Amino acid sequence: SARSAYVGRFAPSPSGPLHLGSLVAALASRLDALAHGGTWLVRIEDIDAPRTVAGADRVILAQLAALGMHSDRPVLYQSSRLAGYQHALDALAARVPVYPCGCTRREIAEAAPPSPITGERPYLGTCRQGLAPGRAPRAWRIRVPPGEICIDDRWLGRVCQDVAREVGDFVIRRADGLWAYQWVVVLDDIAQGITDIVRGADLLTSTARQCALYDMLGQPRPRYMHVPLVVAPDGRKLSKQNGAPPFDAGKPLEALMHAWEYLGFARFEAGGLDDFWPCATEAWARRWR
Ligand code: GLU
Repeated sequence: SARSAYVGRFAPSPSGPLHLGSLVAALASRLDALAHGGTWLVRIEDIDAPRTVAGADRVILAQLAALGMHSDRPVLYQSSRLAGYQHALDALAARVPVYPCGCTRREIAEAAPPSPITGERPYLGTCRQGLAPGRAPRAWRIRVPPGEICIDDRWLGRVCQDVAREVGDFVIRRADGLWAYQWVVVLDDIAQGITDIVRGADLLTSTARQCALYDMLGQPRPRYMHVPLVVAPDGRKLSKQNGAPPFDAGKPLEALMHAWEYLGFARFEAGGLDDFWPCATEAWARRWR
């Protein structure tokens, strides 16, 4: 069947300004959309209220604008979608087992060692049969079907994960009442008609969980491309948490060229942004279309 027209997105969490690592993901997703004659959307993932920094969304949008990157449709904020998330859960729960879990983080940690693949401790399904007497529901989990889930990643090739074994029944609604990233990202990507996800390889361990959700929701999975992470000189990934500096939006061309090189391309002579975008798009299309 014909795949619908390309729709891609960049979905930053507003926990601070973009650094070089997030710029690499933004640039790759933008170029891939341009190279496919597609639509590119920016979505602000402000669902995790405790990690959201006031004003960071505006800083991010201004940084992108300085580089000539604009969402092709109005920017979507997850905080505007809360009713939709609940509605989707009610609809899914009628078909797929979603259950309350009374286990604490500590109990889960004591029950199983961390998975070597995700670094997280798999949940062994303790509450599947119901809450133990006297236990209050904390998080809500979704029952994961057994077996491997594989994707054909455009950058990495075939990648498989057994979600039931490596992760277990995962959290849809957290103990603090907030919606889990895995759940809302899939609902938003479906609602926005996203066909292609281009993002950093740090999210690769989440992809199989998200594919499981597409399957359970009866929706076609998107295509994936996970681009390399930018690592600090000490080998750790750049992140807002470990204080990676924002890129210099006052030197937009320099910032773009730096990200471009991280994506495996050679620097080229560009007089300005008006040169950069068409040349980079053409080179990207030659390699990735
Ligand atoms: N909001 C997520 C992050 O900033 C990215 C979500 C995604 O691209 O799927 O890490």
